[in-house]
Parts: sequence; C-alpha cells; structure tokens
Amino acid sequence: NKTIKIGIVGYGNLGRGTQKAIAQNPDMELVAIFTRRQPEQMTGGEGVRFEHISAAEQYRGIIDVMILCGGSATDLPEQTPVIASMFNTVDSFDTHAKIPEFYETVHAAAQQAGTLSIISTGWDPGLFSLNRLLAEAILPEGKDFTFWGKGVSQGHSDAIRRVPGVKAGVQYTVPVQAVIDQIRSGETPELATRDKHLRECYVVAEEGADKEEITQTIVNMPNYFSDYNTTVNFISEEQLHAEHQGMPHGGFVIRSGITGAGTKQIIEFGLTLESNPEFTASVLVACARAGYRLSQEGSKGAKTIFDLPIGYLSPKSAEQLRRELL
Ligand code: NDP
Repeated sequence: NKTIKIGIVGYGNLGRGTQKAIAQNPDMELVAIFTRRQPEQMTGGEGVRFEHISAAEQYRGIIDVMILCGGSATDLPEQTPVIASMFNTVDSFDTHAKIPEFYETVHAAAQQAGTLSIISTGWDPGLFSLNRLLAEAILPEGKDFTFWGKGVSQGHSDAIRRVPGVKAGVQYTVPVQAVIDQIRSGETPELATRDKHLRECYVVAEEGADKEEITQTIVNMPNYFSDYNTTVNFISEEQLHAEHQGMPHGGFVIRSGITGAGTKQIIEFGLTLESNPEFTASVLVACARAGYRLSQEGSKGAKTIFDLPIGYLSPKSAEQLRRELL
C-alpha cells in the first residue's frame, strides 16, 4: 500500500502538532510544510522541507491531502477555498456561528475542482459534535450539556492582555464541578452562562499599575467576562513562565435523557488534554486518512465529521476492525 502524502499549510501550534502526529502514523508521509513566511528562515527538524505557500500549486498530483493549520479568524476563510481548488483538505475552522457559510464557500470550490474538503474538525467542533449527534439520536428525549476546560482560552487571554496596565496574562476557562456532579446524578438543571463556567485570570501587572482598576476592567468587560464569575490573580513574570506556559484543555459532552416511562440514561464523553494543539492535530490527521479514502472512491465537495464513515479514520482494514474492536 502506498503511503498517504500530506502537506501542512501554516506552521503555528497546530502545524507543529500535525507534524508530530504524522510521525506517529506509518501510513502517512509529510511531503512539505507551506508558510506565508520566508521558507528558508523556518526550522522544523531534520529533513523537513519548507515551501512558500505560493509554491503549493507545484505539488498538485504529489500531495494527497493538505492539512490546513491556519487560524480560524482570518486565515482559514481565505486559505481553505483556495487550497481546496487544488487539493483535498482538512481544517479545524471553529467559529461555530460561521460554519454554515464557510461550508457553502468551501463546498463550491471543492465541487468545482473535484476535490474533497473535511471542514471544522478537531474536538469542538469535531469529536464533541459527533458525540452531541450520537447522544441526541439515541436519546431523543433529553438535554445536552457541553462543558469546556480546564483550559486556556486564547481569545480571552488576548482580551486581558489588551487591558491598560497589563503586561502579560493567561485566562483559564473552568467548568463548575458542582454542576457537573448534579447532571451526572441525573438532574437536568436550567443553567445560565454564569452557572457553568468560571473564568480564572493570571495577570502580570506593569510596574506601578493600579491592580484594583485592572481587576474591575477585566471582570466588567462585556462579551468576555461580565456574564461570568471571574477571578483575577496577580503573579510575577517568573511565575507566568514557570506555571502557565502549557496549552491544556478538555471538557465534557453530557446528555441526560429518558427512555420508556422515565428511565434515566446518561451519555458522557470527556477529554483531558495536556496539549490542545497536539490533540487537535491528531484528530486532523485521522480525518485526513478518511478524506483520502473517500476521495479515492470519487467523493467530492465539503464534508464534516458527520459525513465520514467512522472506520475510514482507522489505518486498519474493515475486516481487522471487526475482529479487534467490534
Ligand atoms: P497559531 O496562531 O499558532 O498559528 C496560526 C498561523 O499563524 C499559522 O498557521 C502560521 O501561518 C502563523 N504563525 C504561527 N506562528 C507564527 C509566528 N511566530 N510568526 C508569524 N506567524 C506565525 O494558531 P494555532 O495553531 O494555535 O491554532 C490554529 C487554529 O486552530 C485556531 O485559530 C483555532 O480556531 C483552531 N483550533 C480548533 C480546534 C477544534 O477543536 N476544532 C481546537 C484548537 C484550535 P504561516 O506559517 O503561514 O505564517
């Protein structure tokens, strides 16, 4: 069997994670990493080929799937349709409200080019979406709960760094344990935003800054913090570097439902991640395999995790899967 030839577009956290994930999958081979920066100035380990993104076209017919690792805010809306007009793609576009519109754009580009694009995969959207679908299909009478964390939220961390007097900072989203316990015990509470998650901020203040003023600015910030119970902890720059450099994340999808005349049934899926980007990348790589197989069968256009035959994610044959995992 030939190996699946992979290209990576964008070399940030997710791009580096994808490189590591490919190394764990012997049926795949990294051909090149494409970047908007100067390729000759990039370093990525021995034998890694960097190319400028404008050279991607030269790899038509050589690369089977491009894994797109750009940011959701501005990179992917621009890059996915362009790359999909030349290659099969996988991306992790995670702006939930804009997924339908993103799908339409990518679908049109991929349909026209005869390529296949798996969009918006990872863990949320991605594995969490799949579990929400399964749970709802199996327990039509019930209620869904999604909790995120404990984990770093990039958007909220950026927001606190923009507060005057803040030198550096990190924000963790923390699910409220008491509420999770309540749901696991079979209750289906009505929850406000504030009841589900806490926001914990660790802030390095500039010399002479008014800490009380910083705290008030953060906790009252609309959209980001004002709807949550938020704590602000001031720490030293050394502490920030020593204790807050990782990118942990995770969470749970829980559906609490009933069958028959009120028999309680609970479905739960959870993740505890030491590295959000390395894990997300591992999902992208498994999806790249499924996308490759689907495209080999002649399938084209944009797809989501809901459209994938699950067995196609595995490097094992259907026969082997039946024997070992069914
Ligand atoms: P980064 O900010 O690390 O990277 C985004 C892009 O920025 C890269 O592709 C790279 O493009 C460029 N870049 C990275 N580092 C540098 C640098 N030092 N200098 C200049 N440019 C740089 O983002 P992440 O990799 O952490 O995340 C990417 C996206 O993944 C997020 O926007 C998020 O939406 C998504 N995501 C989705 C998840 C899911 O479950 N679906 C979970 C986690 C993340 P280039 O090489 O072209 O310069």
